[in-house]
Amino acid sequence: MTTRLRYFVVAALLTAGGLVVSGQTPARSPAASAAALHVLPIRGNVFLLVGAGANVTVSVGPDGVLLVDAGDAAMADQVIATVAQLSRAVTASPGPVRPCPGVGAGVGCAGVTYPALLGTIASPAPPKPIQFIVNTNADPDHAGGNAKVAQAGTTFGGGPGLGAFAFVKESAMVYAHENVLARLTAAKVPTAGLPTESYPTDMKQYFNGEGVQILHRPSAHSDGDSIVHFRGSDVISTGDILSTVSYPVFDVAQGGSINGIIDSLNALLDLVIAEYQTEGGTLLIPGHGRVCDAADLATYRDGMTIIRDRVQDMIKRGLTLAQVKAARPTKDYDPRYDVPTWTKDQFVEAVYRSLSQKK
Ligand SMILES: [Zn+2]
Repeated sequence: MTTRLRYFVVAALLTAGGLVVSGQTPARSPAASAAALHVLPIRGNVFLLVGAGANVTVSVGPDGVLLVDAGDAAMADQVIATVAQLSRAVTASPGPVRPCPGVGAGVGCAGVTYPALLGTIASPAPPKPIQFIVNTNADPDHAGGNAKVAQAGTTFGGGPGLGAFAFVKESAMVYAHENVLARLTAAKVPTAGLPTESYPTDMKQYFNGEGVQILHRPSAHSDGDSIVHFRGSDVISTGDILSTVSYPVFDVAQGGSINGIIDSLNALLDLVIAEYQTEGGTLLIPGHGRVCDAADLATYRDGMTIIRDRVQDMIKRGLTLAQVKAARPTKDYDPRYDVPTWTKDQFVEAVYRSLSQKK
């Protein structure tokens, strides 16, 4: 099935199930719409859930579901319900497989008197379970939903021998860089919300027919960021390294840095392949904001590099933080990226502190 056709089949199934598919205007009550998650088919196995806090990337297919980030704790029930519906819709596409009942039933259900009835009497396939969650960082809008969403899922072939005990329910596995585990542990997050597998560098997983690379980026938004590359679908979840709705958010106290952000944006540029004159090709799902391509990424990288160089130059000339802020090094980008949750002054201060740090 072509990607376009698959989009319409899945979108129709989701809409029929009451989900909001981006680009359509469903008839829902205002209250229901306010709380609804939006589902956007990206490409191949990969979908985007919008409205759960940070962007949640979903790989859905025959192996089940892999999520990149779990969203806010408060949105966990909606994430679970939406993912189940999505999984059911994708599994049912292009059409449900309904085995013929009875002895001797074969291709085309020869011998069944009323084959048309099969669609009525066969049960719909259950949704495939959530098997894996990857946390791109430790923030509550990325990892807050871990506990509930993981418990709604299951892992096949997980812990050694645990399956032998009927009372042990194995939930989905949660992958994160070891610094994310350390940060969530220090924040006294209950065990059920902690990563079950942490890695010091990178991870790989073959899932839903494609290689999934989980790559650690040191010192970007924090010291525990991961980006997730779906190599077959050619989609990359960038976590908070890329945003279309704010300046890059980073915390020097948590190991983040402006140079690490720019290094990571450059590393992403090495991974993306444009389709035509920097447009199209590899798609990127930022931590917050809309889906991007190579051109969006390059434009963001260029802007942040220009601002970094301006602040670096002012530091070299001996300007204080107050003087740097007054000089407005972000002025030409403020209309787009200065937002109440991460203001131009907060960003400039973070850049200043990051560049002034003793190496
Ligand atoms: Zn975020």
